Amino acid sequence: MQHIDRIYIDGAFVTPHGEELFDLFNPATEQVIGRVRLADEHDANRAIAAARRAFASFSRTGKSERLDLLQSMANALAAREDDLAEAIIDEYGSPVSRARWMANYASSVVLEAANTLRQYDFKRRINASEVVMQPVGVAGMITPWNANAGFIANKLATAIAAGCTAVIKPSEMSAIQTQIVTEALHAAGLPTGVFNIVTGRGDVVGATISAHPDVAKISFTGSTAVGKAILRAGAETLKRITLELGGKSPFIVLDDANFAEAAPLALQAGFMNNGQACIAGTRILVPQQRVEEFEVLIRAAAEKTQSGDPRDPATVIGPMVSEKQWNRVQRYIRLGTEEGARLLTGGEGRPDGMESGWFVRPTVFTGVSNDMTIAREEIFGPVLSIIAYRDLEDAIAIANDTTYGLQAYVVSSDPARAREVGARIDAGRVMINAITHDPAVPFGGFKQSGIGRECGTLGLEAYLEPKAVMGVV
Ligand code: NAD
Repeated sequence: MQHIDRIYIDGAFVTPHGEELFDLFNPATEQVIGRVRLADEHDANRAIAAARRAFASFSRTGKSERLDLLQSMANALAAREDDLAEAIIDEYGSPVSRARWMANYASSVVLEAANTLRQYDFKRRINASEVVMQPVGVAGMITPWNANAGFIANKLATAIAAGCTAVIKPSEMSAIQTQIVTEALHAAGLPTGVFNIVTGRGDVVGATISAHPDVAKISFTGSTAVGKAILRAGAETLKRITLELGGKSPFIVLDDANFAEAAPLALQAGFMNNGQACIAGTRILVPQQRVEEFEVLIRAAAEKTQSGDPRDPATVIGPMVSEKQWNRVQRYIRLGTEEGARLLTGGEGRPDGMESGWFVRPTVFTGVSNDMTIAREEIFGPVLSIIAYRDLEDAIAIANDTTYGLQAYVVSSDPARAREVGARIDAGRVMINAITHDPAVPFGGFKQSGIGRECGTLGLEAYLEPKAVMGVV
């Protein structure tokens, strides 16, 4: 049982003013494994004041100093990789191999930010003028529970690369991961006040940061509904806002695809991160004339997919993060059947033989039409929909008929043809015959999947304000 009763302000672990205690669960056992004392508005205000004080000098640091800090940060996070992986399994329910990847990502993404910084020119000449990219100010960062450590690391590393200081409000459900990250960042020796971490409730600490006049920028990863609330809260002071929100990504199987490869790839895209991934490919678009063939293959593959103990190396899908999330997934499975979709495999309840833990059955619906609720709303669990399409135009229309636009997948035996289809899909990233990640290239969504981009040069520029200096000789 872990008791986390400190937040991090102005270079020190301090007792929060807030007194509310919040239970942390192991979703595989439903047992309480920790308790965190939450910060409140008062703590958020103190953290913002510390970041503001630190900004005065940190914004004037040079590239080499920031590169050194990023290197120390990456080293310190890498040194805690084993602890982080354990916390991700216990607190989030991630299967072992995914947890290891996520734990490693926290340090590798910092090195990627350093690479971007190394190559970046903060000053450029246009005609007779000089354009200077200047740090925007104090940045507020708000993260979700589904990859908390990696999001904190990525956002903070980018802010540091830009010369900004930060106030971070991590998900209250991921406090054990946050504690490890905070200890690592403290050990990295970042200057006092450059980063401050205040774990608290979203509608208290998150809302305070989102509205505070001394916060110049918000970088938020989470649900579309909360993203809109943050945008509204930031409007009064015209904050620069980056939003990484939800998705309902299409996985388009072209008629020339190798179905034996496409079906397991579709499951990989849909079931990644226990189905709790913003980029999950949850709408599987299959040519009408080959739907039955695809159904046989995907059903067989889904029935071989183990949903269970995240510490068992054979497990692909661990538990849902919370009871609330488990109930939400059950509701969508019920809705799918009620709205007339056909359950190909899976369904309500826990996998056979499991009586506790927030485990769900890997579920695939077929006969889904794109106007059904399960095809429109983000479920955030391993529940996939097969949607039949008539021809290529129909596939593209269905793929784009969504309020989201985060990621898309196209599978074909002809990569050039797949790229042509990909070019017509409104999504921030398009995967051709693969599932991959590159933290050097822009990440973010079209439409209601977000505003702006993280990662690479565009991600860095989201923390910078251009200033044209003119009339110089
Ligand atoms: P959430 O939106 O409920 O919470 C995210 C964070 O916002 C938490 O820290 C929460 O405390 C905080 N928050 C809640 N209300 C707030 C308010 N009024 N003001 C300020 N902050 C507030 O999301 P979640 O349930 O933690 O995570 C799942 C969601 O995140 C999914 O919708 C998923 O698609 C999305 N997500 C997006 C990406 C991406 O990069 N696009 C990545 C991962 C997750």
